Amino acid sequence: MLSIEQVQSVQRLLAAGECSQREIARRTGVSRPSIAAIANGTRVIQPPRPIDEPAYPAQRCADCGGLVVMPCLACLLRRHRQRLMAEQRARRKEAASGIQPTPSRRPAA
Ligand SMILES: [Zn+2]
Repeated sequence: MLSIEQVQSVQRLLAAGECSQREIARRTGVSRPSIAAIANGTRVIQPPRPIDEPAYPAQRCADCGGLVVMPCLACLLRRHRQRLMAEQRARRKEAASGIQPTPSRRPAA
């Protein structure tokens, strides 16, 4: 990744209009495709992120109260597990009501 200083020196040389992109590449050590991108404005300079500022700030999860990066994976997993268990219970209930009990469960006569 190019530093701001590199991008700015390329921009200065481009604005001066005294040398070709090839010459600018030779002088700055920046690749020609990068210089072309800077020249036509498709490369934007992003200010460096302060070190103490995380890329994805943590928030309080409204469900579990955990300090997490949203969406809260713990809550997603818990809800998923609850849904699976509810489906399993429904299936078991269905099986128990519809089908004859298995021989091992049949009460002794
Ligand atoms: Zn949560």
